[in-house]
Amino acid sequence: MTVKQFQAESKRLLDLMVNSIYTHKEIFLRELISNASDAIDKIYYKALTDEALNFNKEDYFIKVEVDKLARLLKISDTGIGMTREELEENLGVIAKSGSFAFKKETELKEGFDIIGQFGVGFYSAFMVSDVVTVTSRALGSDEAYKWESKGADGYTIESCSKENVGTEIVLKIKENTADENYDEFLEEYRLKSIIKKYSDFIRYPIKMELIKSKLKEGTEQEYEQYKEEEIVNSMVPIWKKSKNELTQEDYDNFYAEKHFGFDKPIKHIHISAEGTISYKAILFIPEKMPFDFYTKEYEKGLELYSNGVLIMHKCADLLPDYFSFIKGMVDSEDLSLNISREMLQHDRQLKLIAKNIKTKIKNELLDLLKNSREKYEEFYKSFGRQLKYGLYSDYGANKKDLQDLLLFYSSKEKKMVTLDEYLSRMTEEQKYIYYASGESIERIDKLPQTELLNDKGYEILYFTDDVDEFSIRMLGAYKEKEFRSVSSGDLGIESEEANTSDADDQSNLDLFTEMKELLADKVKSVKASKRLKNHPVCLTNDGDLSIEMEKILSAMPN
Ligand code: ADP
Ligand code: MG
Repeated sequence: MTVKQFQAESKRLLDLMVNSIYTHKEIFLRELISNASDAIDKIYYKALTDEALNFNKEDYFIKVEVDKLARLLKISDTGIGMTREELEENLGVIAKSGSFAFKKETELKEGFDIIGQFGVGFYSAFMVSDVVTVTSRALGSDEAYKWESKGADGYTIESCSKENVGTEIVLKIKENTADENYDEFLEEYRLKSIIKKYSDFIRYPIKMELIKSKLKEGTEQEYEQYKEEEIVNSMVPIWKKSKNELTQEDYDNFYAEKHFGFDKPIKHIHISAEGTISYKAILFIPEKMPFDFYTKEYEKGLELYSNGVLIMHKCADLLPDYFSFIKGMVDSEDLSLNISREMLQHDRQLKLIAKNIKTKIKNELLDLLKNSREKYEEFYKSFGRQLKYGLYSDYGANKKDLQDLLLFYSSKEKKMVTLDEYLSRMTEEQKYIYYASGESIERIDKLPQTELLNDKGYEILYFTDDVDEFSIRMLGAYKEKEFRSVSSGDLGIESEEANTSDADDQSNLDLFTEMKELLADKVKSVKASKRLKNHPVCLTNDGDLSIEMEKILSAMPN
């Protein structure tokens, strides 16, 4: 038998995992149990869509057993199992290449769980064990295989026998060290509490043999111990529980269990809708941007369940692009199980749910903005760009949903303000909502074009993000007030600018003609301006595009 090597990346990852996530060792159990549950889900799903298969609920369970003396912890399931090839593929390669971007982040922040994020849950077993043995028999096969590994050195696979379809994972628990206690993972009651904490809602029974004691028959004080099998988890999925049964911790655990992110969500939204559309949903507004959020790899979507059975991991149709950062799940009894991706797109029910969800998310964000401004601003730092991008890419079609969620830096308030707050400070004579585009707040502060407006006491919104001006163009106006760039030729300030001194232009005709000639085709015309106080000159534009937009457009690849 030859020992196969893990792929190079896998080695590094294993090393990283075993050596740097000690604070959360216990989550290995959550990972193995959720894999077991996934495996049963796969059979269940198959049976529901394949007439030849039967699914008797009683036959499906997960079992956790300990052998203290031998220091063994066994997690077995009656799920779909793995073939030899699957053992190789699924357990021989850790994560996919490119996942190393997370390393940076893990070094920054203590105490979050990187494991789930990257689909490498299985390897967390090595945090607590020296040897991991996986015995598995796949559905529809008579053969079974044993995969074994001592960690980074590699693994072996050999054939073996196994009576039932399913998978059995045996961990040889590490010996205690001076600073680390591993014995706890051989204590039934400790294991039970870990399961309660992280895996309570798993839909299949998690069985354990627990030691109990009772009075010895015929005596009044003597106790005897006996073992009794118990189902440890409540099996009710969290979204089917009522809100007042649940604590913040339950939601946070669910978020982590589901691998939605390694941050703590800012807010959860628990929906239980009934009527024309019936569905339950738990949605999360994350705090931190996933590291791949602005890459092509990022996939938006919500988990979709049909009456408790997972039918799709990322249903994109449930979320508009501008809310692509939302994580969570939806369960509806009204969806058919063997619905295909194409059919889903046209499913009326699903469309209604999506619309409903969109409104809920918007309202929650507005609520956050109104009642927890600081949190909202934190959120906006991560995802504001996505909202603005949403306005722009949908040609303003989502104005109503998005405009009140926008924040911009204000020249007057020296902080982020909403458009509505801007409006509330506008004077009657002020015609437009003014904005200035630039690289940074400091740069915009120095723009000569802002002088006149500042002098008049008008507030200016600072656009420091590339997408700002584009998205505002799509908006056109906010509550009937149009936007106007400070570099626009017409600022709508009558008394001082409307009839910009033609007289001045005439008397300086020679100078201006000379300047125009020197600047050749860099400018269209040179004029006298009353906009300036401390600066000798500024650029303005008559056209539709502002100077900043032109810069961005000309920097774009054709
Ligand atoms: P993830 O669960 O995110 O895919 P894991 O590292 O936890 O990543 O597991 C890797 C893969 O190994 C799973 O996707 C699954 O295909 C397979 N696997 C793990 N545990 C089991 C199990 N108990 N039964 C069947 N397949 C399993
Ligand atoms: Mg997993």
